Amino acid sequence: MYCGIIWLQVALIAGVTGIVGNSLAAKLLQEPKAPESSSWKVYGVARRSAKPDWLPESLHYIGCNLLDREETLSKLSRLQDVTHLFYVTWVNRLTEEENIKTNTQLYRNILDALLPNAKNFRHIVLQTGTKHYLGPFELAGQIPVPDPPFREDYPRRPCANFYHDLEDMTFETVKGTSITYSIHRPTGIFGFAEGNLMNMVSTLAVYAAICQYENKPLIFPGSKMCWDFMQDASDADLVAEQEIWASLDPKAKNQDFNITNGDVFKWKRLWQLLAKEYNVRAEYKNYESDHHQESELSKKTIPCKSLQEMMKGKEAVWDKIVKEKGLRPTKLADVAQWWFVDSWLGQDIENVSNMNKSRELGFLGWRDSEKSFLFVLEKSRKNRVVP
Ligand code: NAD
Repeated sequence: MYCGIIWLQVALIAGVTGIVGNSLAAKLLQEPKAPESSSWKVYGVARRSAKPDWLPESLHYIGCNLLDREETLSKLSRLQDVTHLFYVTWVNRLTEEENIKTNTQLYRNILDALLPNAKNFRHIVLQTGTKHYLGPFELAGQIPVPDPPFREDYPRRPCANFYHDLEDMTFETVKGTSITYSIHRPTGIFGFAEGNLMNMVSTLAVYAAICQYENKPLIFPGSKMCWDFMQDASDADLVAEQEIWASLDPKAKNQDFNITNGDVFKWKRLWQLLAKEYNVRAEYKNYESDHHQESELSKKTIPCKSLQEMMKGKEAVWDKIVKEKGLRPTKLADVAQWWFVDSWLGQDIENVSNMNKSRELGFLGWRDSEKSFLFVLEKSRKNRVVP
């Protein structure tokens, strides 16, 4: 269909089935509008062998295990027209030491496949996250957190963090070349995906659907701070918009950017909205006083009521819901990551990022976080991932 066209911009999205990866593909290709109007040709690589039906039709999909060096070199070195890399992938290991080893290997494989062959290569978009300020999951609550709202000019936390290693590899790669980069730090993302590693909206929707099925209240699993205080979130489409802006605008070159919705919200309100969607009763129990006296909760990330605990053994219930509601065939672990929600909602800090830097340079995008949450929920329902 596009034979004979010389594309000015050719993207490779590493992690295209992920929570931001699929938003990037849709935005770059301007689907569901006419893809012919897009100025991008887009390749997308991810682990699963077949292209999921929820990715844009005009995306050139490549199934590849990026941790397999030979396979990556063989499949990606052919993409000689790539001008922009959107790196929105990661692999989760048990320790940060292993995270560093595995994630740098994955990044190295892509860079080595692409850069010697893509002669017009121009820009690397590297997505990391707010853990840049908080430290890795394994140190949650154990290292001092800088004063929120987090600013891009805060020094790195003095601890191992695979984000630092990916950044350093990026600086090293572009040194002495005309290649530019941008680094993007979302906080917890509200976005559609099926089977990705951390998905707040689908996990909470699955939890609410199980509560509805069992006629139980929707107990908030987080801390009092998270319930009562202001928090922020990052809409996946908005993250994609900032990444595309930075890949094109000269003012954004070689910069790091926070990317959140630009508003703040309270979980106590969002919880009511979620409960209403599933026709269940929202409940908040303040378990905090017990925990506080025993374990100084303020210094640790411990949810007041752990979803991991509450949802233990619910696999068969989910199987029944999937069957009765005609959902895509998924297992509970594919669509719900209880540990992730426990860790996010169990926070005892004001997890808020400052959005001024990219605004000052011209990125004015924003989202209403409550509407973003409901929009993503609706999208996940339309795609039959959640009921
Ligand atoms: P994701 O889990 O949504 O998607 C990961 C993508 O990478 C998928 O397409 C998957 O198929 C692909 N992938 C993983 N391993 C692969 C392999 N071996 N070979 C080929 N493809 C592979 O990713 P995400 O959540 O967008 O994470 C990207 C970055 O954003 C990470 O650094 C993460 O910490 C950060 N982040 C995520 C969130 C969130 O809420 N999800 C929030 C803040 C920051």
